[in-house]
Amino acid sequence: MKIHEYQAKELFASYGVATQQGYVAYTKEEAVECAKKLSDKAYVVKAQAHCGGRGKAGGVKLARSLAEVESAADKILGMRIINRQTGAEGKLVRKVLVTGAVNIKKEYYLSLAVDNENASVIIIASGAGGTEIEEIAATKPELIVKQLVSPVTGLRDYEARYVAKKIGIPKENTKEFIAMLKNMYKLFIDKDCSLVEINPLVETEEGKLIAIDGKVNFDDNALFRHPDIVELRDVDEENPKEYEAGKHDLNYVSLDGSIGCMVNGAGLAMATMDIIHAFGGEPANFLDVGGTATTERVTAAFKILSDPSVKAILVNIFGGIVKCDVIAEGIVIAAREVGLNVPLIVRLDGTNVEKGKSILKESGLKIYACDDLRSAAKKAVEMAH
Ligand code: ADP
Repeated sequence: MKIHEYQAKELFASYGVATQQGYVAYTKEEAVECAKKLSDKAYVVKAQAHCGGRGKAGGVKLARSLAEVESAADKILGMRIINRQTGAEGKLVRKVLVTGAVNIKKEYYLSLAVDNENASVIIIASGAGGTEIEEIAATKPELIVKQLVSPVTGLRDYEARYVAKKIGIPKENTKEFIAMLKNMYKLFIDKDCSLVEINPLVETEEGKLIAIDGKVNFDDNALFRHPDIVELRDVDEENPKEYEAGKHDLNYVSLDGSIGCMVNGAGLAMATMDIIHAFGGEPANFLDVGGTATTERVTAAFKILSDPSVKAILVNIFGGIVKCDVIAEGIVIAAREVGLNVPLIVRLDGTNVEKGKSILKESGLKIYACDDLRSAAKKAVEMAH
């Protein structure tokens, strides 16, 4: 799960990670009121959307007066940020963060993430902050410093000191840096994060270290332990179909193609997508209904699948734990409820397959039943074209 910068900064503040005070506004008038609450003489108005690269897209503006705050908020609110991170449709900006402007001397990159390969937390840092880390990694990999942290011992001072030295933190700020990194680490562990990132971490002209941006992602599988974090969820920022699927415990990812897929098991779902590709088609989604699909979940899945970009639906179910007749019933109910108007190709096999097939046959719906995956995928591609 992702949260906004302003929420990340609130978490930083509660963990003693130096950041700036700021307020969130939904209108330009509110933005001016927010600025009035700050003691700063210059302000920064920042788009709040779940993506980076806002600065380059015009979503971060410096304002030297309240009038400039108003015009900056006016320009940013309602804009769509489109970049590598957002996909073609971009991210609509619904709110802005108004904060004080900082006199920047130097920008650094600092983050904590999970290193799966080493079963550790990893510190990734660079003296070349302010740019996307992917870009630094691609153009100047030698500027990136990595330090593994054992989750058994936790972060040690000497590890943090090593990072500080490597990225060029001034000697007089080393203590401050170590404390900051240790607080970030505490946040990372306490809240089951998958990422805690500061980009940029700023060294100010006044000689202080401050996080002027913040990104915190959480492990979805641990959210049940953190009701306070779940409350920070902004549904507007999520793909509505993926959000709906999540509510039904369905594993769903939206894709760009025209063939809607309903499959049980992630492996079979991948194989189904591959075979669609092999026949020259493009899947519209990845959808795993799981091993314990009920009629309700299949119905929900079917509704999520039906959208104007979908020109054919391919159901590929191998009934192991899940029974083919349950799936068939779900398909029939859902197809009637959504008023299905695209070809439906079904390949069922496994437990209760005959019962499932006869439910489909007796439904009176126009369904192309196929006995094997190859012919089903071929048919789906033909029909989608
Ligand atoms: P993004 O990464 O989405 O572009 P950032 O928060 O990194 O957004 O902001 C982009 C740039 O804007 C920063 O690298 C920094 O140079 C400048 N900036 C952001 N916030 C402030 C601030 N409070 N004071 C001064 N400059 C800022």
